[in-house]
Amino acid sequence: MTNQFPQAFTYQALPMRVRFGEPAFDAIAEELSHLGLRKVVVLCSPGRVELGQLLAGAIRNTVGTSGGDSDATCAGVIAKAVMHVPREVAEETIAEVKRLGADGCVSIGGGSAIGLGKAIALELGLPTVAIPTTYAGSEMTTMWGMTTDGKKTTGRDESVLPKSVIYDPALTSGLPVATSVTSGFNAMAHAVEALYAPDASPITSLMAEEGVRALTAALPGVVDNPEGLTARSEALYGAWLCGACMGSTTMSLHHKICHALGGTLNLPHAETHTVVLPHVLAFNQPAVPTAVGALSRALGGTKNPAKRLWELAHKLGAPMSLQELGMDRGDIPSIAKQVHSGTYGNPREASEEDITRILNAAWAGESPAI
Ligand code: NAD
Repeated sequence: MTNQFPQAFTYQALPMRVRFGEPAFDAIAEELSHLGLRKVVVLCSPGRVELGQLLAGAIRNTVGTSGGDSDATCAGVIAKAVMHVPREVAEETIAEVKRLGADGCVSIGGGSAIGLGKAIALELGLPTVAIPTTYAGSEMTTMWGMTTDGKKTTGRDESVLPKSVIYDPALTSGLPVATSVTSGFNAMAHAVEALYAPDASPITSLMAEEGVRALTAALPGVVDNPEGLTARSEALYGAWLCGACMGSTTMSLHHKICHALGGTLNLPHAETHTVVLPHVLAFNQPAVPTAVGALSRALGGTKNPAKRLWELAHKLGAPMSLQELGMDRGDIPSIAKQVHSGTYGNPREASEEDITRILNAAWAGESPAI
């Protein structure tokens, strides 16, 4: 390792428990028992209601099987989770969870289901168990988000961090290939920005490098054989590490741009991260030699990690331009202005013109230029 750090750094570990690699439906009863939960609600997206009901059934079927008093039951399934947690969805769900008298929630799905669990934890203080089925990484962070009249508000609060996370690779085997690829890039974006975060530490950098290595090794295998559990396990392991990095560091320009594009123009979350990441990394590379070294090792020895990530996205069939994602080129100036006027950290100062250049290149799908 050639990482060099300043003499001093602060690392704050987050209090959560991770269970990896077992069937989630087998592990759930023990996790609920561990947390002392007795009556939970399952949260999922509308398209995953069947999976939510299967999970509810698995919870109900285990009542009394793992040793008595602390066994939990499932009070219901709420299949309303959608991207960016609209306030009305959060409010309806909170009312329903209260009505059912639940003492905890189990979120199963991607960042949307986990985000809905966070809204409930924030409002009602109820503990959550997360069973992630994408690579977005929300389960590892204290960040919550909520959207009111099209405007997304975010914040950090330790109460929203799931108390327990169950990673079951088999549950990701049905994630469509295209979503798997972009979700994997969404995860790697967390690791990339953790490597040059103002609060980076040796431990987050180790996780970031290993997370990028694991995901870039796994994604071609996921594309070739989406149901193959070896590649799915490695991808989920990488996603866990990348999410954990994001949970412990402050994200920079890349996340700021994606937040503006998603929040203002409603561009799809994981796809937007995939398109933008190589361009912001290319911009930042000259200022972050240590991060470039770590990414270079993770990506098999390239001198230009930004280009390598761009080529990998292309090879794996990901969308390559913001234009393909439906962005109007005329929106670039207002997004650049919004990003530039906001507050965020970045290792290299970015002027409005720099941000415009990055957005133009990402919009057109050009090869990232340093
Ligand atoms: P998502 O949760 O919206 O899932 C995308 C779609 O895939 C949904 O329709 C879902 O039902 C489906 N799906 C999920 N897993 C599946 C599986 N295994 N098989 C088949 N279909 C499956 O998308 P996402 O990218 O995971 O999450 C995006 C949301 O999460 C955004 O709102 C984003 O802001 C938020 N997010 C928050 C954080 C945080 O730290 N707070 C971090 C990352 C993402």
